[in-house]
Amino acid sequence: MKKFVFLLLSAVLFLTPFSVSAQNERQVIREGSRESMKIALTFDDGPHPYRTDDVLRLLEQYGIRATFFVIGENVSYYPEPFKRTVAAGHEIGNHTYHHKLLSETCEKTIEEEIRKTDDIIFRTAGYRPKIFRPPEGAYSDCALKAAKSMDYSVILWTVDTRDWEKPPVQVIVDNVMKNVKGGSILLFHDYMHKNAQTLEALEILIPKLLEKGYEFVTVSELIA
Ligand SMILES: [Zn+2]
Repeated sequence: MKKFVFLLLSAVLFLTPFSVSAQNERQVIREGSRESMKIALTFDDGPHPYRTDDVLRLLEQYGIRATFFVIGENVSYYPEPFKRTVAAGHEIGNHTYHHKLLSETCEKTIEEEIRKTDDIIFRTAGYRPKIFRPPEGAYSDCALKAAKSMDYSVILWTVDTRDWEKPPVQVIVDNVMKNVKGGSILLFHDYMHKNAQTLEALEILIPKLLEKGYEFVTVSELIA
């Protein structure tokens, strides 16, 4: 029996080399208060040379502010759409420099990934982000510790639209309408390969959500 328990433990440790303690897990935010009608649109992986502007135009049309979790490397490639995002009053979050999967490493690179992104965001637009989203929502105690040491709040999401899988527009719309509730953080992408239908889905979703009484706020406003 002892041997069995030992083998089982070894297997668990082997499968999850960098675990997350319950205490650190509480640091991860997935939603705001369910008692309000506030929700937050979030866009990951940008800036993109033109898709970011497409999203900005749509948001401006409705006077909505959203949150963009940017990749540092993309900010260095496409500083102009990034500056326009900041100038339009949207919130910016840190999404690492190379979109590195943080659950598989416990090295100093995590801190470097976050700090380098912080630096380019500040150098490009004079902006200091307060929120961090680990790529693919994958993290370890090390990643959470690094984020905390830099005063970052760690933000995941309530509803994953899976827009990057390029589902039909109606699938994205139905997924959101079925799962959204007050306090929801909705995950979209403004950087993706062609044929993703994020924008088309948003064109339908935004008026629908407004009609239901939802109010769009930034992530920091949602969790304040
Ligand atoms: Zn991402």
